[in-house]
Order: sequence, then C-alpha cells, then structure tokens
Amino acid sequence: MTTRFDLVILGGGPGGYAAALYGAAAGLSVALVEELRVGGTCLHRGCIPAKELLQTAEVLRTVKGAKAFGVAVGGPTLDLNVSIERQQKIVDRLTKGLETLLSGRSVNVFSGRGEVLDAGAHTVRVDDGTVLEGGSLIIATGSSPREFPGIPFDGVKVLSSDHVLGLTTVPARTAIIGGGAIGCEFASYLADVGSSVTVLESMPSILPGVDTEVAEIVGRMFKRRRITVRTGVTVEGAEVDGDSVSVRLTEDNAQVALEVDTVVVSIGRAPNTAGCGLEDSGIEIDAKGFIQVDGEMRTTVAGVYAVGDVVATPQLAHVAFAEAIVAIKSILGESPRPIDYNRVPWGIYCHPEVAFCGPTEAAARAAGQDVVVSVHRFAGNARAQIMDQADGLVKVIANSDGIILGVHIVGPMATELLGPGYLAVNWEATVDDLSILIQPHPTLGELFGESVLALTGRSLHA
Ligand code: FAD
Repeated sequence: MTTRFDLVILGGGPGGYAAALYGAAAGLSVALVEELRVGGTCLHRGCIPAKELLQTAEVLRTVKGAKAFGVAVGGPTLDLNVSIERQQKIVDRLTKGLETLLSGRSVNVFSGRGEVLDAGAHTVRVDDGTVLEGGSLIIATGSSPREFPGIPFDGVKVLSSDHVLGLTTVPARTAIIGGGAIGCEFASYLADVGSSVTVLESMPSILPGVDTEVAEIVGRMFKRRRITVRTGVTVEGAEVDGDSVSVRLTEDNAQVALEVDTVVVSIGRAPNTAGCGLEDSGIEIDAKGFIQVDGEMRTTVAGVYAVGDVVATPQLAHVAFAEAIVAIKSILGESPRPIDYNRVPWGIYCHPEVAFCGPTEAAARAAGQDVVVSVHRFAGNARAQIMDQADGLVKVIANSDGIILGVHIVGPMATELLGPGYLAVNWEATVDDLSILIQPHPTLGELFGESVLALTGRSLHA
C-alpha cells in the first residue's frame, strides 16, 4: 500500500529534519524516513558530541591554569567515562527535544532504511515494505567518514571520527591524518587530555582554506602545546604491529616512519549516495558521489531535491539547515534566493578557536579586489587579558568602497564572536555604517569594533 504526503524526506539529519520542520510549519504533510535516530551525524556522531569533549578539555585546561589566578587546586584527574556519559545525556536530551518538535508538527517519522523506488514518481520504499509517495521528494542522506586508501578503519588502532568520540582511554601517541577542521579539533582535544599528538597534513599549512595569518596562529599555539604539525607530507600507508602502528610517510623526498599507538583518519567525508536507490534513477551524481543540484537545491529529476552533506557544498550543519529552507521555499513556489556559499559562517572549535565569514585576505586580493585590511590582536584587549587568553586576532577586510568583505577571528570564543562579522559581510555593511556602533566594555567583541573603526583612518586603542 502506498501512503501519500505533500513531501517525503529521506534522511533525518540536520538537512532532513530541518526540511521536515520548516515544511510542516508551512502546512505541508511530511513523511521523514530515518534508519537510525533523528538528528543525524551532527547530533549523534559530529558537532554535539565533539563539542562536549572539547568542553571537557577546556574545563581541564582551566583547572590546570587556575594557579595563575591564585586559585589553588590539586593536580586534576580526568575520567573520560564521566565525560562520555555526560555527552550521551546531552545527545539524548536534544534527540528527545527534536522528536517532540517533529511530532508536535505532525511530521510522520518512519523508522527504517529507505530507498528511492521511482524518482520521477517521488516514491520511497522503507525496508519494512511501506511505500511513501510525495508531491516532492528531498534526499538528505548525509555523509560518512572517508577511509584512507589502504588503511581501513578497525575501531581500535585506526579510528574514524565516530570512534574518537567514544574513546574512554587516551592513546599515549596519536597520529592524525588530515589537518582540516575536524582533524585540528581532535588534535586539540587529544592533546589536552594527555596524548602526544602529531598532525600529518599534505598541504603546506594546516587548516587549508583558512586565512594564512589565522592558520599560522593556530600552528604556533599548537606548537606551544606540544602538538607536532608536519605539513607537506604524504602518507603512504600504515601497518598495525601489536600495540603500535607504523605510519609510512614521504617527507622532504625521504621515506620515514612514525610510530604511534593510534591513527585517526580525518580526510573528509563521503556522501551517502550508494545503496539508496539512486543508481539509474535519473538523478545526476558526480564522480565523487555528490548529487548535482541547482541554486534551489533541485536535482535533475523534477520535484526531487537534495540538501546537506550529500551535495557538494560546505559540509556544515547550518548549511544543511539553510539548504533545507531553500528547498522548501522552492517547493512552495517562492523562488528562494540561492545561498552564497562564499559567505557562510565557519566555526572551528580547537584551542584557539577559529571563525570566519567571507574571503581570506589572499583570496580577496587574488580576485582583483582593491582591499584594505585591519588587524587587531587580543593582546590589547582587556577582557582577553582578564581571561588569560590573549593570543589571537581579529582581521576585517573591506574593499575600496568601505564594504566589509570578510571577517576572520582566531582566539577566545571566536565562534561566538563571529555573529556581528557574519551580519556585516552578508548585509554588505560599510565601515562607516559599523564604526558608529558601540561595543560594550570590557568585552572580547570590542576587538571587532576597533578593527572596523581603524578602517575609517582613525582609531581609539591602536
Ligand atoms: P547527516 O547528519 O549525515 O544525516 C543523514 C541522515 O540520513 C543520518 O541520520 C542517516 O542515518 C540517514 N540515512 C542515510 N541514508 C539513509 C537511508 N537510505 N534511509 C534512511 N535513513 C538514511 N558541522 C557544523 O556545522 N559544526 C560543527 O561543529 C561540526 N562538527 C562536526 C564534527 C564532526 C566530528 C563531524 C563528523 C561532523 C561535524 N559537522 C559539523 C558536520 C555536520 O555534522 C554535518 O554537516 C551535518 O550533520 C550534515 O547533515 P545532513 O543532514 O546532510 O547529514
């Protein structure tokens, strides 16, 4: 028997559940098919559990640094079982909240693995035999950790992000293959909890795509924290030998080996497009497995949309949310404005945190923009000194008309500080618009205000 809805969604992660909530809020009848628990990678194997562990690391760092404030504490100990338990409680609470939201909006959640039966007819078959037909269909099946060729995950010595999030003992020596956002978050976390960490990155710098000056500060602070960063290296393979793993590298044209206890592979995530009934469906998929979409998230089959990690856009939960809203507006015939992927916000939660929006200074110059740049350091910020976290900077990039193009932050609470920078870039605010606004004192946010004020040619504290 086929049950009909206005909208059928395959996958209940941020892309799928946001589409369900937003679509239901607009009055659509919605079916959501999820094979695990709603919430997806973000809630169960990504953003939320990873940030909980990073928070644990921060608490440990704070306690270790308490002496500088005259607060005497004994040598702190860490029980990761407690942190993992806490992590699970947070995830469970958020999952329950999401389930309540979905049922409150009368979204019909079907538990089971689904596959597209007939894309043109917008039908999905769930593995219990239920067939769902939608006026429209959204594919939001997400992504999975990518394996390093020849170094398969075993969950013991060779770990994916999924495995790291469940570690209850800290490996003495860890090699992290890949110095991108997730690799650097894990490097930061594992170093804080006591592992001797080496990051292996093939590019000339960690955090490729991040402003050079920002990435350099992260590299310097990692070094100070005894995290070894080896850039420009090619990982050739790895062999597990008893309790240790030997990672083979090419570095400066020489073959070298790195002995560690655990390898974490963090080289990106592959879209979940296999085994979902997409083969021969008419839905175009590129060579890397991503579903092809246009600016309204429409696939090559009429009435079928794709959002989130399954499309080749920044793999971020908030981008999946935004794409879900665009898809629903398109379904409703509202001709939504396509997302400007060059101006989405990015947050990286390592220590020091990184957040940015808009082009890097190098990218803005390479695009032929006549740019002016203002850099202010947390060393001159009262609140940062009070917090004893005065490393880092805010960089504001504007064009010759004074329009703010990019905002880049590295330092304390950078991810929380990006808000005004994000608005400035996306509202195409000018230096004159912003320089008259008042920042509360003493706050970390003053640094953004100072950086903008300096672009008027006069400044206060710098
Ligand atoms: P997913 O979250 O992967 O959800 C897809 C869902 O579809 C899953 O629940 C899956 O079970 C289901 N599914 C797949 N196939 C089927 C099928 N055939 N039938 C039924 N169900 C199916 N992003 C941020 O913005 N901020 C962060 O701080 C951040 N940190 C991260 C940290 C880590 C360690 C990782 C791994 C990721 C992180 N991300 C972060 C990325 C973020 O998790 C993803 O961008 C986001 O989850 C993508 O949402 P999605 O809905 O596209 O896919």
